[in-house]
Amino acid sequence: MRVWLASSNPGKLRDFAGMAPALEVDLLPGFFRLPPVIEDGASFAANARKKAAEYSRAWGGEEWVLADDSGLEVAALNGAPGIYSARFAGEGASDADNNALLLRRLEGVPSERRQAAFVCVLAVARQGQVAATFTGRAEGTILTAERGSNGFGYDPLFYSPEAGCAFGELPAEVKARFSHRGKAARALLAWAQKHGAGNGRH
Ligand code: IMP
Repeated sequence: MRVWLASSNPGKLRDFAGMAPALEVDLLPGFFRLPPVIEDGASFAANARKKAAEYSRAWGGEEWVLADDSGLEVAALNGAPGIYSARFAGEGASDADNNALLLRRLEGVPSERRQAAFVCVLAVARQGQVAATFTGRAEGTILTAERGSNGFGYDPLFYSPEAGCAFGELPAEVKARFSHRGKAARALLAWAQKHGAGNGRH
């Protein structure tokens, strides 16, 4: 299936590039000239749907437009940063700022209370109409120091028991096997295969 990703996040793009070649993901042409979509939904799904609908309407083409809304939910912080993951340390915060704040907020929290989950909702739309959404979750714990220099965002602080290491220690194609984004993308592929969306017959 070929989809056009409506995202300016190079980390997400790299993650998609590391996934199965059956899912061809390219940056939506002209994305940077499209008016920005305000992410004011109350959930990952609401934001993903809004981005997919608005960008596919603005783009206007026949192609499938894919939007990804994702983030980290930390149990000891009552689910924060959640939908505010990108701007946890404030508007325009860098990954380093967000990671530093996360470590500060969890200072003194013992390992057995450092559970967290990455969540990713993918929405596919065409000409303003959302056709489907797909959710993926990855369970893990928050480390006390960064590990690895791969990935983006909170990856160096996220230990995945399934992978046996931090996401920051994994190349994109290995991270995709365990990640929230990989799981959601596999659900999208299954849907595309079932509905013939891969060859424009949907
Ligand atoms: P969005 O662009 O509003 O969906 O915000 C996504 C934010 O969630 C990113 O900027 C990261 O801070 C965090 N995030 C989402 N997915 C990942 C991931 O796979 N690894 C690390 N951080 C992630």
